[in-house]
Order: sequence, then structure tokens, then C-alpha cells
Amino acid sequence: MRFEGQCALVTGGAGGIGAALVRALRAEGALVAVSDRQSGAVEAEAHLDGDLLDGAFCDALPGRAEAELGGLDMVFNNAGVITRGDITTARDDDWRLTMGVNVEAPFRICRAAIPILAARGGGAIVNTSSCWGLRPGPNHPVYVTSKAAIASLTQCLGRDHAHQGIRVNAVCPNEVDTPMLRTGFAARGLDPEQAIEDLNASVPVGHIASPEEIVDVMLFLASDAARYMCGALVEVNGGKAVI
Ligand code: NAD
Repeated sequence: MRFEGQCALVTGGAGGIGAALVRALRAEGALVAVSDRQSGAVEAEAHLDGDLLDGAFCDALPGRAEAELGGLDMVFNNAGVITRGDITTARDDDWRLTMGVNVEAPFRICRAAIPILAARGGGAIVNTSSCWGLRPGPNHPVYVTSKAAIASLTQCLGRDHAHQGIRVNAVCPNEVDTPMLRTGFAARGLDPEQAIEDLNASVPVGHIASPEEIVDVMLFLASDAARYMCGALVEVNGGKAVI
């Protein structure tokens, strides 16, 4: 029960990693405000649904979570979208969507959350970047750029706000078995089960990550065990470097 009585905001809380994160936080005693487009199916202490492309919604989210839960100690900027294809196929809307959800929303949420956390004497923010935020993967320049931007934002905020007791870190997963990955296979006309089996064979530990294998690291980063970590980008890849 590492998080007994602590209050957490989770974006993308109805998704593959997000729903597992909400479950794990609550199992360890946290009170959770879950945010997504529709999070009603996820058990939590508060549901703050809306569109992360709406700037005013993002600006208000940490304050609303604090009001609903009676405090705010942890923020998980987990929501994300992936846009695929090389730059010649990228539409203006792909750029706006990807940078809006993956970069601008966390920027707004961090900007609003940091004064709240500071007033409480500190807290933890865990952003979700990607292995592709650390090194480029092929044919996803818009997504990769967004994940590099959130990685850089994490390093900046980790440095700027450590003196306030606020630790800002990021998890950088490689492939995780979630709807994001599976819908990508389906969109390319591949059988998701077969595609995941093929991917499993490419990972040195023998399988792509389950959501829980990423969540364990996110909880570590939010916990007191990571109290000296600020601005860290933690790669979680089963031994598979980006090719
Ligand atoms: P997912 O698609 O299962 O979940 C993402 C969630 O974000 C969804 O529930 C979706 O509704 C929400 N979301 C997207 N746009 C939104 C918007 N405009 N407003 C409100 N909510 C919105 O994906 P996931 O795999 O669980 O991804 C979680 C995070 O992990 C993302 O940031 C993703 O980029 C990152 N990541 C995933 C993988 C992977 O292989 N699955 C690898 C590296 C990083």
C-alpha cells in the first residue's frame, strides 16, 4: 500500500496502459481521478471526461481532480495517440492531433498541476514518452517527434521543479499489448494475434510488454523509492532496442 490516501490524476485512463494503471494505483490505496473521452467503465473515485485537444479542459483538469479527491499528489500524463506513415503522407490534422494530445495537453496539465503540488509540499508527475522518444523509429516522424518533445519537457520540468519537491519523470516503453498496438495492425490489414506473436519473437525477454509491466515502472517512478529521480527517461523494452 505505497500510495495509501494519496490522490492521483490519470489521463487516458480507459486505455490499455491507463486502465491497468488506475487498477494498480487503487490496489495500493490511492484515490484516483480518471480522465478519458469515456471512462465510465473504469472504477475510480472520480471521472473527469473530456477531449484533451480542448485547452481549457486541460488547464482545469488538475484543479478539478484536486477538488474531487480532496488533494492531488500524483499526475500521470498517459493519454496518447499514434499517427503512422512517413512525412510525405502526414496531413496537417495528423500533426495537430498528435502534438495536441501527446505534447500540448501534458504541457497544459503540468503547468496547472505544478502550483497545486508545490502548495502541498511536493508530488510526482509521470509522463509517458516512448523508446521512440529516445531514438527514432521508422516511418512515424510525427509520433516520434511528439514523444521526443514530451521527453524533453520531462527533463526540463524535472530540473526546474525538483527544489519544490516535485519529481517529474517519464516512462519510455517499447511495444505494449494494448488497443493502440492492435488497432495499428488491424489498420494495416494484419491479423493482430499473428502480428503480436511475430513481435514477441523479436524481443529478447520473449514477449512484448503487458500493460502491467509498464505500470510497475510508472508506480515505481511515482513512489518514494524513486525520491532521488528527477527528469529521468526510463526505457522499458524487454531488452529490445529500437531498430
Ligand atoms: P490506448 O490507445 O489503449 O490508450 C490511449 C488512451 O488515450 C485511450 O483511452 C484514448 O481514449 C485516450 N485519448 C486519446 N486521445 C484523447 C483525447 N483527445 N482526449 C482524451 N483522451 C484521449 O494506448 P496505450 O497503448 O495504452 O497508450 C498509453 C500511452 O503509452 C500513450 O501515450 C502511448 O503513446 C504510450 N506508448 C504506447 C506503446 C504501445 O506499444 N502501446 C508504446 C510506447 C508508448
